[in-house]
Amino acid sequence: MAFSVSGIPVGRGIAIGRAWVLAPASLDVPRRAIESGQGHAEVERLYAAVRAVDDEFEKMRQDLGSEVAAELRAFLDLQAIVLHDPMLIEATRDRILAEQCNAEWALVQQYEQVAEQFDAIEDAYLRERRADVRQIVERILKAMRHPEGGARIALPQALATESGPHADLPWILVAHDIAPADMLLLKQHSFAGFATDTGSPTSHTAILARSLGLPAVVGLQTLYGLIQQGEPIIIDAEAGVVLGSIDAPIRSIYEVRQAEQAVARSRLTRLKNVAAQTLDGQAVTLFANLDLPSDAAHAMEAGCQGVGLFRSEFLYMNRNDPPSEEEQYEAYRSVVIALKGRPVTIRTLDSGADKDVPSVSANRDPPSNPALALRAIRLCLAEPELFMTQLRAILRASAHGPIKLLIPLISGPQEMVTARKMVMAAMAQLKDRRMAFDGAISIGAMIEVPAAALAIDGLLPVLDFASLGTNDLIQYTLAIDRADGDVAHLYNPLHPAVLRLIADVIKACNRRGKPVSVCGEMAGDPELTRLLLGFGLREFSMHPAQVLLIKQEILRSRAADCSKQSAKILRQGDPAKLTAALAKWNQDRDHISG
Ligand code: PEP
Ligand code: MG
Repeated sequence: MAFSVSGIPVGRGIAIGRAWVLAPASLDVPRRAIESGQGHAEVERLYAAVRAVDDEFEKMRQDLGSEVAAELRAFLDLQAIVLHDPMLIEATRDRILAEQCNAEWALVQQYEQVAEQFDAIEDAYLRERRADVRQIVERILKAMRHPEGGARIALPQALATESGPHADLPWILVAHDIAPADMLLLKQHSFAGFATDTGSPTSHTAILARSLGLPAVVGLQTLYGLIQQGEPIIIDAEAGVVLGSIDAPIRSIYEVRQAEQAVARSRLTRLKNVAAQTLDGQAVTLFANLDLPSDAAHAMEAGCQGVGLFRSEFLYMNRNDPPSEEEQYEAYRSVVIALKGRPVTIRTLDSGADKDVPSVSANRDPPSNPALALRAIRLCLAEPELFMTQLRAILRASAHGPIKLLIPLISGPQEMVTARKMVMAAMAQLKDRRMAFDGAISIGAMIEVPAAALAIDGLLPVLDFASLGTNDLIQYTLAIDRADGDVAHLYNPLHPAVLRLIADVIKACNRRGKPVSVCGEMAGDPELTRLLLGFGLREFSMHPAQVLLIKQEILRSRAADCSKQSAKILRQGDPAKLTAALAKWNQDRDHISG
């Protein structure tokens, strides 16, 4: 019988497909039957992973040098012994061949057996060695998932060619959790939708999923264990539910709804070349947010007027070394060229929190509180060479078209002044090299730290423009980790504290004649368009997939009315009442537009 699991919607629409259940980075791996004759290939995958872990240990030994404490060497030696224990590796090989199953599954089964034996040992010290075995198993599993070292997910080749009882259906990704770096890899595969047990709507994983314009639901908590590999499922991102064990009548109901949505979407495309303007003639600029240079094509298709946020940090993920100046220059230049003269706002490296950049994190101890740690501009100022390399690359790309430079996580003017000095220094270096760049490049800041929003008057003199990063502004104002599904219900864009900060920043910027945009997820939410217009916002930056929807909202809004209504809403101090007042206002809009 069909069942449904509720979660938090992060994309729009409906996906009907078969589940590709992704193994998490723990010992909870699915069993996969292998074709006859493939057993030796699986064994070879196992051996290759063992060799990779061996190499990792060797590198660690070398990095530790000769002065290292004897205990550390002994630890590495012990792990190497465990790695080659025939009870683990040879027995796993036998299992693969006997049970005709994937290497990951066989390894975990073998580990469970060995662990049981350890549990029965009386000597406490020896019993604790079970943890060493587990660590080794996790390392091997990781190496199997990332055969090239940097990548954290390796999708089976079978994904493209897999046949089976529901081969007519596209794949839907089901996972316990997906890290942003993994999501980046998944962007290159065509899934019809995503569903994860963990996560919240403004985690970077969700943002990447949304940027694909696909239906997705996160925070499902229990879905992962309920869905079988290849099973037909439905993602309803309007209702925030995933349906499993679906039968033919349910499938046809959703097929009809899916077709209706496709018609509505294609109607929206008629707005592509219509200027975004309110009913009372206020022009609004709609920019796109990009995660990768390849997203530039989507931005152009959606008819956006430029790029309001290019998240450059994704260029640094899934690799062990940072991208070189040349590589970055090519990436930025390709976006500038694709945008054909429209402005491109490139945000400098915004590493940290849920965005792991291995070339940075590998050299540092894990912070006790990643969201508050040495990340983004703080890290760039602490690692000048890393920052200067990026600045030179951006400046060089500015010779090919209009670029604006955006600095993340600014908390006060001093950081901005230092960042500006470094831009000047990068310009001087390029001059010495006789390389072209835009000497009058605009330099702005993300306003996403409450301190920057509250003290915006002190910051504006050193900014050419401001961009409100509402995702982080909400996180830091409400003390809610935006990537933590357990507190996702407390993450509230409509908290009066958040709205007052946003309204005040927009007002201050407009008063001083400094361009201001919103590039957080709020800008792409049609339920918030009139509110933001009412605050005086005239630049919105969002995923290309949202641009036409937001344009539709603008076309049917009257700025003067929005301003009056927003002022009323802003006076409401109770979050629940404020939410209700906005919902009522939006209901009127739905009613008016039919
Ligand atoms: C934000 O914080 O709102 C933002 C746009 O940046 P990111 O989501 O990458 O932190
Ligand atoms: Mg941010």
